[in-house]
Amino acid sequence: MGYKFDTLSIHGGFEPDEKGASLPPIYQSTSFIFKDPDHAARIFNLEEEGFIYTRINNPTADVLEKRMTLLDGGVGAVATSSGMAAITTTMLSLLGEGDEILSSSALYGGTITLFSLTLANLGINVKYVDADDPENFKKALTPQTKVIYLETIGNPKLNIPDFERVVEIAHSVPIPVVVDNTVATPYLFKPIEWGVDIVVYSLTKYLSGHATSVGGLIVDSGNFPWKEGGFKQFTEPDSGYHGIIFSEKFGRAAFIARTRLQTLRDLGGSISPFNAFLILMGIETLSLRMEKHSKNALKVAEFLASHPAVANVNYPGLDSSHYKKLAGKYLPKGQSGLIGFELKRGYEAGKKFISSVNLLNHLANIGDARSLVIHPASTTHQQLSREERLKAGVTDGFIRLSVGIEDVDDIINDIKQALEAI
Ligand SMILES: *Cc1c(COP(=O)(O)O)cnc(C)c1O
Repeated sequence: MGYKFDTLSIHGGFEPDEKGASLPPIYQSTSFIFKDPDHAARIFNLEEEGFIYTRINNPTADVLEKRMTLLDGGVGAVATSSGMAAITTTMLSLLGEGDEILSSSALYGGTITLFSLTLANLGINVKYVDADDPENFKKALTPQTKVIYLETIGNPKLNIPDFERVVEIAHSVPIPVVVDNTVATPYLFKPIEWGVDIVVYSLTKYLSGHATSVGGLIVDSGNFPWKEGGFKQFTEPDSGYHGIIFSEKFGRAAFIARTRLQTLRDLGGSISPFNAFLILMGIETLSLRMEKHSKNALKVAEFLASHPAVANVNYPGLDSSHYKKLAGKYLPKGQSGLIGFELKRGYEAGKKFISSVNLLNHLANIGDARSLVIHPASTTHQQLSREERLKAGVTDGFIRLSVGIEDVDDIINDIKQALEAI
């Protein structure tokens, strides 16, 4: 399909069937009837594409996967039950005991505990570096490093890495670069155009856009040379599939094919057809929403920066931001809806601010049409050690806003009265 982004958001990956429904039907069915025993055997033997069982694939999830593949410019995608399932499935598809993840230290809290605790218990180690200087990745490489991991707009520090340089460092080894593009979405940033190999999403946030459904997704660029990288699971006979070689059978889509047929099949973190449908409805308005989130957030950030109760404001679109230049290079259409700011009076002021807002919802989510607010030190980042918390950019008086698409005057007025209350 040669259509542009806004058209693909609505039509991509979907062909109406003979019944003529104009929206993708919800195939709320666990399993799919085979035509005859030979048909079944061919599907199980990967000689023919077809639906077997919703843990592995499903026609509604298939539309979502195809649409996101088109929006991101990849060769294939796998939808998962959550963003965390997308990250876990990707990592367990790529890595094994003794392998090392080299990651930016500014990450979503759940990703830090996945890497530092759950994967570490399986013998997969993680090394964190400050992504503000891309050369830190080069200095930290070891023979065990198998992947570099970044977030587009790091949650909650709202940092933007220099993707081009980090990709160059990774590909000189070569190892793949995985980027969590949840906060930017493919409307504001397309990691694959900058050389990133695998993109992961929490669809729960801006892609769904209305806080109805938890979901995740993995997109494969199809560009990584698995053989040179020594990833034998994609290039040598696989015992999980009676000796097939994924790179021979699926070519450039070897990673995403094996991630579905083996890793997702075994781990089981697949998306529900109903959630896939709701997320598809969200994607139809993705560009409109991301434009408005970005415009509103810039105005709110400018207001906060001028307020005497505020010590500092992180928003990559602000002229004062350390990331303004990188934002201009990688996110010229807008910098999404997240703002971090620090209250001068610390922890207690943070809690007082939260209890004083009326319009803003106090909850642990981002990327909703509604404006949201949270005090990370007492909530999302509470499980981390103080050192890990500060490394992630979460100080005592730090507040995170997810600016919604309401009228920006109402959002600013609510914040203003809450700042006055402290
Ligand atoms: C929310 C989030 C995740 C986890 O996604 P879930 O859908 O909640 O599992 C991962 N990365 C980022 C950047 C997120 O915001």
